[in-house]
Formats: sequence, C-alpha cells, structure tokens
Amino acid sequence: MSRGAGAMPYGFTFDLRGLPRSFFQELLKLAYSLKIHRRMSHAARYLVKKFRVQEITGLNLLEAISLFEDLLEIQVLNILNRDGFMAAGGRKVLFLPHCARKYMDKRCRAEFDPSTPTYRCMSCSPDCLINQASAIARERGYDVYVLPGGSCIPKILALRRYDAAVGVACGAELKLGYMALKRLGIPGQAVPLLKNGCAETYFDVEELRKLL
Ligand code: SF4
Repeated sequence: MSRGAGAMPYGFTFDLRGLPRSFFQELLKLAYSLKIHRRMSHAARYLVKKFRVQEITGLNLLEAISLFEDLLEIQVLNILNRDGFMAAGGRKVLFLPHCARKYMDKRCRAEFDPSTPTYRCMSCSPDCLINQASAIARERGYDVYVLPGGSCIPKILALRRYDAAVGVACGAELKLGYMALKRLGIPGQAVPLLKNGCAETYFDVEELRKLL
C-alpha cells in the first residue's frame, strides 16, 4: 500500500525505532478513551512531549503530530477491519515496499517483473526484512508482491481477485491503500514503517507475523 514509484508521501524522513513500544500503546489507548482518534492533535502533542519524541527522532512538533495521527488512524483501521479480515476466506495478498530490501543495488538478487510490476525475492540474505516477511506470508498461503510503488496495487487487484490484503508502507500511504481496498470491498490490515526514506526502510516483522 504505497503511493506512486519514487514519491515520498511525507516531506520529511523519520526513524521511530528509538521510541518505546509503550508510546504507541498509550497513544492508541488515549485516543480511544477520548473517542477522538480522528482529531487528536492535542493528545498527540501531549504524548510527543511526554516521550521526548522530538529529541529521540529529530522530528519537529508538527511533523511528529502529523505522523502519529496517521499511525493512530492506521491502528484504528486495523481494529475496525480485523473481524472482516479474519472472516475472509479465499486468496490473500501481502504488499511489501521494495525500499525495505537489504540491498537496493545489484547485490539484491530479486528478479523484477515489469508486467506487474513487482520484485520476486530470491532469498539471497536471511537477514533481509523482505525475505523474512515473504517467507512468513508464503507459508501462510499469501501471494507476495514487493512493489516499486503503490500505483501498482490497483493494477494487481484488477488482474487478480483477492479476498483480503495486508500492506506494509508509511502511514500516509497505508491510508490511501485502505481507501482503495474499501472501494473494492476487500478487508485489509496494515503494518506501518518505523523508518521511512528511499532505502533501508524498516518495519516490525513480528508485528506483521501477528497480523497475517
Ligand atoms: S533477500 Fe530478497 S529482497 Fe532481500 S536482498 Fe535478497 S533478493 Fe533482494
């Protein structure tokens, strides 16, 4: 679930891996308890200060709030779509971002299929996130696409009918992905990137494993 190839949905880069997991848990809890998950700038501002997000990540306040509002919305959408996703039988698909490959040059042995377009991971590196995520998903019967950009998703969904979908991308792109799935009536789940950029992006494989 990502936007067009090469496009950066945020005008800034982020790396949230230094933040404690409790930050996200508390953010979600607070939004839910206040029933303001769609308009929670105030709560986000409070937690950004409490967890010293600016010092840890280098984001400024507005960037941090914009980012966490997106992440929060993704968590809420995951919860709202969970039952439908779990009830879906049939064919499931996982969309992964190519920027999370271990290598972005010739050392990556993935084959590129321009007709889809997608990369086919050839499992050259056991510690590559794409390799790990693909292995888990295939074991569970998912088709896996490693996408150069989110613009490929409508094409894939038009070519092949899927009954449920999981995507990994940054929060802004996941929200777009969710909208695309909603139009097609496909229940989805999403895992947000914890580090964005054009290369060496990062997501939590264990979080993905739990969602699949
Ligand atoms: S494991 Fe797959 S995606 Fe990762 S670098 Fe190797 S071929 Fe590329």
